[in-house]
Amino acid sequence: MTDYSVWVLEYGYVDRFPVSNLLAAQPHQGTRRMPYCFGLLRSAGHCVLVDTGFADPAVHQRLSTRYGSTYWTSPVEMLSRVGVRPEDVDTILLTHNHLDHSGCVADFPTAQVYLQRRELTRYHDALARPRRFEFLLRATDAALPAVLTDRDRELRVTYASGYLPVTAGIELRPAFDTHTAGSQFALVENAADGRWLFAGDNVYVYENIEGLQGTGALEPIGTSTGSQWIWLDTIDHALDWVGRDSARVIPFHDGELFRRFPSREYADGLHVAEISLAAGHDSVLPAGGAADGTDTAAGADAADEADGTAGADGKVRTEGVAPGDD
Ligand SMILES: [Zn+2]
Repeated sequence: MTDYSVWVLEYGYVDRFPVSNLLAAQPHQGTRRMPYCFGLLRSAGHCVLVDTGFADPAVHQRLSTRYGSTYWTSPVEMLSRVGVRPEDVDTILLTHNHLDHSGCVADFPTAQVYLQRRELTRYHDALARPRRFEFLLRATDAALPAVLTDRDRELRVTYASGYLPVTAGIELRPAFDTHTAGSQFALVENAADGRWLFAGDNVYVYENIEGLQGTGALEPIGTSTGSQWIWLDTIDHALDWVGRDSARVIPFHDGELFRRFPSREYADGLHVAEISLAAGHDSVLPAGGAADGTDTAAGADAADEADGTAGADGKVRTEGVAPGDD
């Protein structure tokens, strides 16, 4: 069996995200710093992204207006910090078509892209409806269909119809009519340390699967176009795949990830978590192996940038104007 190293890279964050958007029917939980992340898997033969993040200044500004101070760099820049070039990426697994998960596919022109066909067909169904159905399009990446069409001409898009083995140790499993109509999970299985489940936005935060204050009650996600019944059944089933061990589920919007796993905080406040390190791979953590190490070099110029102005390196920091207005 092929073993994969597994990392989660944070490419931006907002500092006042309403918890009620993460947990359904929990209106008085305040706000929290929320990271935006994507996954990186490397084996001897493959370099795989789980989602691609986004790098759109207009969206940076919009999120800053809604969710407080924000900070962003590009997914390509975050990958460079761990020694990965865009042309190294051969596979992209998109959990769903939301712009913070699928916004940078075009930055990886040689990768084979995997998406559930249902995610695209339901997007087009929603697009054909009157404007009053705009909720179905909210947060979707309007550019993705054209990006995929271009790539499809070169046979580098695979539209899955449910379960699909991608390559040894990686498979896709559907999560239809949950967070989105065609959401999917990516399941990684290593010989050395077992299974890791990328849940997309079907697990925003650990509380969705561990309960508030660890009660163990499943807490449905706050934003969904599907059904809570289906989410509950789908997530409960998915937990069986990982031995009902929530530590094996990787939430892209929970900063707790960087406390539970060995991680590195760069000088600009962004993080990388090292979930699993395969034999023969170098750690991305600071020399000496200390967890939660702080890098004092990369991103040290970030503090000089303000007012949403991108520096030469593309990093953007903006201050929100209306906290708590969501
Ligand atoms: Zn989403």
